[in-house]
Amino acid sequence: MTTTRLVVIGGDAAGMSAASKVRRKDPQRDIVVFERSPHTSYSACGMPYFIAGLVESADLLIARTPEKFREKYNIDARVLHEVTELDLNGRRVQVRNLENNSEAWEAYDQLLIATGAEAIMPELPGSDADGIFGLSTLASGIRVQQYMEREQPRRAVVVGGGYIGLEMAEALVRKGLQVSLVERGEQVMGTLDPDMGELVSDALREIGVTLYLQESMTGYENADGRVTGVVTDQRTLPAELVIIGLGTRPNTALAAAAGITLGEKGSIRVNQRMESSAPGVWAAGDCAESFHLVSRQPFYVALGTVANKQGTVAGTNLAGGYATFPGVVGTAVSKICKYEVARTGLMEREIRALGLQYDTAAAKSKTRAGYYPGVGWITVKLLAEQGSGRLLGGQIVGLEGAAKRIDVLATAITAGMTVQQLVDLDLSYAPPFSPVWDPVQTAARQLLTNDQ
Ligand SMILES: Cc1cc2nc3c(=O)[nH]c(=O)nc-3n(C[C@H](O)[C@H](O)[C@H](O)COP(=O)(O)OP(=O)(O)OC[C@H]3O[C@@H](n4cnc5c(N)ncnc54)[C@H](O)[C@@H]3O)c2cc1C
Repeated sequence: MTTTRLVVIGGDAAGMSAASKVRRKDPQRDIVVFERSPHTSYSACGMPYFIAGLVESADLLIARTPEKFREKYNIDARVLHEVTELDLNGRRVQVRNLENNSEAWEAYDQLLIATGAEAIMPELPGSDADGIFGLSTLASGIRVQQYMEREQPRRAVVVGGGYIGLEMAEALVRKGLQVSLVERGEQVMGTLDPDMGELVSDALREIGVTLYLQESMTGYENADGRVTGVVTDQRTLPAELVIIGLGTRPNTALAAAAGITLGEKGSIRVNQRMESSAPGVWAAGDCAESFHLVSRQPFYVALGTVANKQGTVAGTNLAGGYATFPGVVGTAVSKICKYEVARTGLMEREIRALGLQYDTAAAKSKTRAGYYPGVGWITVKLLAEQGSGRLLGGQIVGLEGAAKRIDVLATAITAGMTVQQLVDLDLSYAPPFSPVWDPVQTAARQLLTNDQ
């Protein structure tokens, strides 16, 4: 009896979630995974903490090795194998073995593209020098750590104030480097409204990062093939290490070349079951499109939360079951030293673009009862549709215990709740955990007061 052959391209969150799901549902299925880096199932999210020295070894960031996939799960995970071409009519992919440079065509019955995203690295004068890094795979994080061990840089410039840039700024501060951050926008953390981003900028300055806002990188300075500085439109900042945090772009060149339909920001368009436009071809994770449950529009997001879910949904369907991925509300959370930052739903700019009228309020309160040891400040901002009171977005900046409160807001937004319903929610209280009114409810009450 012949079995259906599943080929997966990309051996991390989405690809391996899918492969594992198929294996659990179908012990007989022939499953092959091609992964061009040396690692499978790694936590890219943990890289800043490895580089900071909080996580001792890169091995700790690997959930399952290729050997484990082979031995325990009978999944043929082949690392250092890059897929270089898709032949959709012939139902085969061309694979290059990166160890010996040989190439071969591999047949599939079902194909899952889980190729993730790559760091955006602008081609600027001097960009080929050593010491300039973007982060995507675990191998990229290991390269940064090894460079730091070898070259012992004293000064670093982080370009881009998104969450990866900020987490890396923290990591480098922890390692004792003098850190500057260049950001084109008026505030860091462009996924927050500027008033909330300003709180994050203040937090960065407090931990010793020098910020250059409304400033753009135009090139690099080098000596002997190594970076020595970042040139902006206003100055030159000396640096022996440069981290580029300008966001990611979906790795979809293979899919595009094969004629598969692309959507938002060049990600692979999929239906709710994670099927692409090509028969028998599925996509999941950072290379695939998502859907925004508040704007009701196609949306691109590159997050591990989404990649794991999409991979699991794809795996269930590939195994012959039925599952759907409804979409996201844009929830994300991050930490910069002692400061916690979180967001969900739409921000002001996005709400205006949809032509909606909205009310907003930001309330500063406390993470615990005011008298309880370890109490810290927290600012919660809420955005709600004018008239209906439907929650549209929430943002939080604060100290320990602040960030995960975003999950209450994400749940409320997903459920279509109003500000009044958030006030009425039976949330928990004891002095070590919150004031008697949880900070999200204090913000909701503030919004209702503003509205009267
Ligand atoms: C520094 C950093 C911090 C992060 N922190 C968080 C966080 O705190 N929370 C969060 O939710 N998300 C975070 N993320 C994002 C998260 O890591 C990604 O969303 C997640 O890894 C996506 O999983 P994926 O499987 O879709 O893609 P990837 O993890 O990118 O895996 C895709 C794999 O495909 C391989 N590949 C690509 N092309 C080919 C090819 N042609 N042939 C063979 N193999 C190929 C790549 O080598 C890669 O291993 C972070 C990312 C980074 C870089």
